Amino acid sequence: MADQKKNYSVFNMGSFADLEKKEINGKKGKVFLGQELGLTGCEASINSTPAGGFTPFVHSHKMNEELYIVIKGSGFFYVDGEEFPIREGSMIRVAPAGERAIKAGDEGLSYACVQVQQGSLKQATKEDGVITETKTSWM
Ligand code: ZN
Repeated sequence: MADQKKNYSVFNMGSFADLEKKEINGKKGKVFLGQELGLTGCEASINSTPAGGFTPFVHSHKMNEELYIVIKGSGFFYVDGEEFPIREGSMIRVAPAGERAIKAGDEGLSYACVQVQQGSLKQATKEDGVITETKTSWM
């Protein structure tokens, strides 16, 4: 559980190879970051699926859009009746109503999934980022 008094939190999940063996709430190869890091604006998960593995259901969301970021490997993505290949570097946004599923290819698949309430982003880097005067030891 994250320390909410500090301006940051750190969680080390270990290697992707070890992640495939972990199980949370009946889901293998998945770790949710919201509770581990004390996230307050989004939920995120890191996922690792062995070759040929897949989540055995299609799902949608009520309010949250999802961003899938493929970190390693390849596979296939399904949204609303369409299936397409994905690989390292693929980024997929799915609107809440999109019915989605994911399957690992022959080399397995590691990906991150970030879910956030659709339409909640009111500003981003250009408007929200502030460069401060602070210097680190490497500057
Ligand atoms: Zn989802």
